[in-house]
Amino acid sequence: MTGIVVLGSAHMGLVAHAPRAPGRGETVTGREFRTVPGGRGVNQAVAAARAGGETALIGAVGSDDFGTLLRRTLTASGVDTDLLRTAEGPSGTAHTVVDDDGESAIVVVPGANAAVTSLAPGDETLIAAADTLLLQLELPLSAVLDGAGAARRHGVRTVLTPAPAQPLPPGLLAATDLLVPNAREAAALAGVADPRTAAETLLCQVPEVVITLGSAGSLYAARGRPPLPVPAPRVTAVDTTAAGDVFTGALAVALGEGQPMERALHWATAAAALCVQRPGSSPSMPYRPEIDSAS
Ligand code: ATP
Repeated sequence: MTGIVVLGSAHMGLVAHAPRAPGRGETVTGREFRTVPGGRGVNQAVAAARAGGETALIGAVGSDDFGTLLRRTLTASGVDTDLLRTAEGPSGTAHTVVDDDGESAIVVVPGANAAVTSLAPGDETLIAAADTLLLQLELPLSAVLDGAGAARRHGVRTVLTPAPAQPLPPGLLAATDLLVPNAREAAALAGVADPRTAAETLLCQVPEVVITLGSAGSLYAARGRPPLPVPAPRVTAVDTTAAGDVFTGALAVALGEGQPMERALHWATAAAALCVQRPGSSPSMPYRPEIDSAS
């Protein structure tokens, strides 16, 4: 049985390091170029599989070489790609310039991801047999809603990462069991910056929230319970890309194994702390034995 199904995006990151991002009409010479397989769907699926969860990804890659590379990244980490579609045309791409201050400027071209507008035959059966469905907002919202609805019908736990921040369609939060925004996304959804107040506001719409707070860890809140701050270990962060996805993937694995929420949060926090100490997104994601010994 597949414990975790991720319904989400696949992007090939095309990352140039340059002194600064070019202005309009300008060309800047860069220092280094890398292709980085990612997209929140791919990242959460790889993170969950490496953390020890039986994991499948529903989404789409293109019919180009990037599609082949994205598939290879997933299968190398043990993600089931049987229901990952290949859409005619280019894969999703994330064109990124990282400047000398470590700030990124990114253009995302959805490519094949845009073809995922609803569930395909077989998707609902896979979701129905899962323990948890992980959702983010990088696929067309119609598909995200479809997935959440299918999970609801079959009593499958839904975990939503509301990124990129945007107005949510009615019904999506109502079909969400656990919302995992970062501080910025929580503020955008709740209309208030303070995480405790934001969590309280969000609990009117979902039963449980974890707001991730970068190096400050996270804040868990559930209806009828006092909020629980979960500190992150002090580490030297070299690259925080995909920390949130590692946190969410690992959290889903721990909860699926029946760990109580507090223990699951500490375990996911240990996984995310390992990820930020290494460069890259999917290459930096920890495997289960490392998480166990760090937690
Ligand atoms: P991304 O968009 O890069 O995936 P995010 O903005 O969604 O990240 P963050 O809140 O930055 O998510 O980080 C997620 C989790 O990763 C945090 O809750 C924390 O546990 C861990 N984390 C992030 N940065 C650090 C850090 N510098 N040191 C230790 N842990 C960290």
